[in-house]
Amino acid sequence: MNGIVALRNVVEAFVNFVYPPFCSTCGRTLRRGEEYVCASCWESFERVPRTETIIQLVEEKFLADEAVDGIDSVFLFEQDQRVREAVHLLKYNGAEVIAERFGLFIAKKIVNDSKLSMCDTIVPVPLHPARQRERGYNQSELITRSLSTILGISHSPHLLIRVRQTKTQTLFDAEGRQKNIKGAFALGRISLDDIGGKKVLLVDDVITTGSTIKECARTLKICGVSEVYAASAAVTI
Ligand SMILES: [Zn+2]
Repeated sequence: MNGIVALRNVVEAFVNFVYPPFCSTCGRTLRRGEEYVCASCWESFERVPRTETIIQLVEEKFLADEAVDGIDSVFLFEQDQRVREAVHLLKYNGAEVIAERFGLFIAKKIVNDSKLSMCDTIVPVPLHPARQRERGYNQSELITRSLSTILGISHSPHLLIRVRQTKTQTLFDAEGRQKNIKGAFALGRISLDDIGGKKVLLVDDVITTGSTIKECARTLKICGVSEVYAASAAVTI
């Protein structure tokens, strides 16, 4: 064993000691190449079961105001504690690797969808600048960056901006959430000609009542976007 290899092993042993390489969701020892969450957890997270479930969700949550033209989502948020843990890691531990995985799973799910995968650009649900400064990043933007690279669709993280800081949506019921989020978004520094008649794929980490996505979609449609689709890593059904 040469000196460099020996040193690398010592460093790795030290890092493993400080940050024990265990899966955050099942506790199993992580294998080489796995980070935060093991491969078997990723594959066994509870998925949104059938297309019909999503159609039903669209009808119930979105179609009433015609702002969102279609939606898809990968994992079930309420039903699987491990999914909630992964979303928590994404939001609070700066886990870029979680965002990349979420992007990959969304891409796999929508790649054959003629509407969602044929959008002109992908837009993350924006955070208020103050919140983004506090967190250091927008978790939805990390997901859209990954999704954009995999699908080869442009990424527009500044198309929508959050102009009003809202109270956390978890404090409200569905009706309260809608009021809380109203008027929270506006178009960023972009010419209306650039988005007029275009199709946009909005992406959030979790869709709960759909109020946030609907308000973003409403803002985009007022500004001339022709079709707005939504995708998320997890959803509450
Ligand atoms: Zn695991």
